[in-house]
Amino acid sequence: MEHAGGCLCGVTRYKVAGDPIRVLYCHCNDCKKQTSAPYSVVASYAKDQVSFESLNSLKTYESIGDSGNVVKRSFCGRCGSPVFSEVEVLPDVILIKAGTFDNAAWLKPSMEIYTKDRLQCAQIDPSIDSFPGPRPK
Ligand SMILES: [Zn+2]
Ligand SMILES: [Zn+2]
Repeated sequence: MEHAGGCLCGVTRYKVAGDPIRVLYCHCNDCKKQTSAPYSVVASYAKDQVSFESLNSLKTYESIGDSGNVVKRSFCGRCGSPVFSEVEVLPDVILIKAGTFDNAAWLKPSMEIYTKDRLQCAQIDPSIDSFPGPRPK
Protein backbone atom coordinates (compact mmCIF):
# COMPACT_ATOMS: atom_id res chain seq x y z
CA MET A 1 0.00 0.00 0.00
CA GLU A 2 1.18 3.49 -0.77
CA HIS A 3 0.24 6.28 1.61
CA ALA A 4 0.80 10.00 1.35
CA GLY A 5 1.12 12.56 4.07
CA GLY A 6 2.45 15.92 4.97
CA CYS A 7 2.58 18.76 7.42
CA LEU A 8 -0.28 21.05 8.36
CA CYS A 9 0.56 23.80 5.85
CA GLY A 10 1.36 21.35 3.05
CA VAL A 11 4.87 22.48 2.07
CA THR A 12 6.35 19.22 3.36
CA ARG A 13 4.87 16.22 1.53
CA TYR A 14 5.91 12.58 1.48
CA LYS A 15 4.88 9.18 0.19
CA VAL A 16 5.55 5.79 1.72
CA ALA A 17 5.53 2.53 -0.23
CA GLY A 18 4.66 -0.81 1.29
CA ASP A 19 3.81 -1.68 4.84
CA PRO A 20 5.52 -0.10 7.82
CA ILE A 21 8.05 -2.19 9.69
CA ARG A 22 6.14 -1.42 12.85
CA VAL A 23 3.55 0.97 14.25
CA LEU A 24 3.75 1.89 17.91
CA TYR A 25 2.66 4.27 20.60
CA CYS A 26 5.47 6.18 22.27
CA HIS A 27 4.82 7.62 25.71
CA CYS A 28 8.25 9.17 26.21
CA ASN A 29 8.42 12.65 27.63
CA ASP A 30 10.29 14.05 24.63
CA CYS A 31 7.48 12.94 22.31
CA LYS A 32 4.98 14.64 24.60
CA LYS A 33 6.93 17.88 24.48
CA GLN A 34 7.50 17.77 20.77
CA THR A 35 3.96 16.85 19.73
CA SER A 36 2.14 18.54 22.64
CA ALA A 37 0.04 15.37 22.77
CA PRO A 38 -0.15 12.80 25.60
CA TYR A 39 1.73 10.27 23.40
CA SER A 40 2.81 9.93 19.81
CA VAL A 41 1.98 7.28 17.23
CA VAL A 42 4.95 6.43 15.05
CA ALA A 43 5.17 4.28 11.92
CA SER A 44 8.67 3.04 11.12
CA TYR A 45 9.82 2.48 7.54
CA ALA A 46 13.07 1.60 5.83
CA LYS A 47 14.45 4.84 4.38
CA ASP A 48 14.10 3.52 0.83
CA GLN A 49 10.33 3.14 1.35
CA VAL A 50 9.91 6.87 1.91
CA SER A 51 10.15 9.66 -0.65
CA PHE A 52 9.82 13.38 -0.02
CA GLU A 53 8.57 15.93 -2.51
CA SER A 54 10.54 18.64 -0.77
CA LEU A 55 12.77 18.83 2.26
CA ASN A 56 13.49 22.55 1.89
CA SER A 57 11.21 23.74 4.68
CA LEU A 58 12.17 21.12 7.23
CA LYS A 59 14.07 21.98 10.35
CA THR A 60 15.70 19.37 12.54
CA TYR A 61 16.08 19.36 16.29
CA GLU A 62 18.73 17.02 17.63
CA SER A 63 18.78 15.77 21.20
CA ILE A 64 19.98 12.88 23.28
CA GLY A 65 17.13 10.48 23.92
CA ASP A 66 16.35 8.62 27.10
CA SER A 67 18.39 5.72 25.71
CA GLY A 68 21.51 7.90 25.50
CA ASN A 69 21.43 7.94 21.70
CA VAL A 70 21.02 10.87 19.34
CA VAL A 71 17.46 11.46 18.15
CA LYS A 72 16.83 13.83 15.23
CA ARG A 73 13.33 15.22 15.09
CA SER A 74 12.36 16.93 11.83
CA PHE A 75 9.47 19.34 11.66
CA CYS A 76 8.04 21.82 9.19
CA GLY A 77 9.78 25.18 9.62
CA ARG A 78 6.70 26.98 8.36
CA CYS A 79 3.80 25.41 10.31
CA GLY A 80 5.65 23.45 13.01
CA SER A 81 4.19 19.98 12.38
CA PRO A 82 6.47 17.19 13.62
CA VAL A 83 6.92 15.01 10.51
CA PHE A 84 9.51 12.35 11.25
CA SER A 85 12.32 11.28 13.54
CA GLU A 86 15.54 9.40 13.06
CA VAL A 87 17.44 7.55 15.74
CA GLU A 88 21.16 6.86 15.76
CA VAL A 89 20.68 3.18 16.61
CA LEU A 90 18.49 2.58 13.53
CA PRO A 91 20.36 4.41 10.75
CA ASP A 92 18.32 2.91 7.89
CA VAL A 93 14.96 3.65 9.44
CA ILE A 94 12.69 6.68 9.38
CA LEU A 95 9.98 7.11 12.00
CA ILE A 96 6.98 8.89 10.51
CA LYS A 97 4.75 10.79 12.94
CA ALA A 98 1.59 8.94 12.05
CA GLY A 99 -0.75 11.88 12.58
CA THR A 100 0.71 13.43 9.42
CA PHE A 101 -0.73 10.75 7.11
CA ASP A 102 -3.53 12.19 4.98
CA ASN A 103 -5.56 9.14 5.87
CA ALA A 104 -4.42 7.36 9.01
CA ALA A 105 -7.47 5.12 9.43
CA TRP A 106 -5.46 2.00 8.51
CA LEU A 107 -2.97 2.40 11.35
CA LYS A 108 -2.90 -0.40 13.86
CA PRO A 109 -0.17 0.02 16.47
CA SER A 110 1.16 -3.26 17.81
CA MET A 111 2.97 -2.05 20.89
CA GLU A 112 3.49 0.71 23.41
CA ILE A 113 6.91 1.89 24.49
CA TYR A 114 8.09 4.10 27.36
CA THR A 115 5.04 3.16 29.41
CA LYS A 116 6.99 4.25 32.50
CA ASP A 117 6.06 7.79 31.37
CA ARG A 118 2.49 6.93 30.35
CA LEU A 119 -0.11 9.45 31.48
CA GLN A 120 -3.36 8.63 33.21
CA CYS A 121 -5.20 10.04 30.17
CA ALA A 122 -3.27 7.75 27.82
CA GLN A 123 -4.26 4.23 28.90
CA ILE A 124 -4.63 2.70 25.47
CA ASP A 125 -4.85 -1.02 24.88
CA PRO A 126 -3.94 -3.56 27.55
CA SER A 127 -3.96 -6.37 24.96
CA ILE A 128 -0.90 -5.18 23.02
CA ASP A 129 2.76 -5.53 24.02
CA SER A 130 4.04 -2.80 26.24
CA PHE A 131 7.52 -1.95 27.41
CA PRO A 132 8.56 0.42 30.18
CA GLY A 133 11.42 1.82 28.08
CA PRO A 134 12.55 1.48 24.47
CA ARG A 135 11.59 -1.50 22.34
CA PRO A 136 13.83 -4.42 23.32
CA LYS A 137 16.28 -5.54 20.61
ZN1 LIG B 1 4.15 22.91 7.12
ZN1 LIG C 1 8.88 9.02 22.17
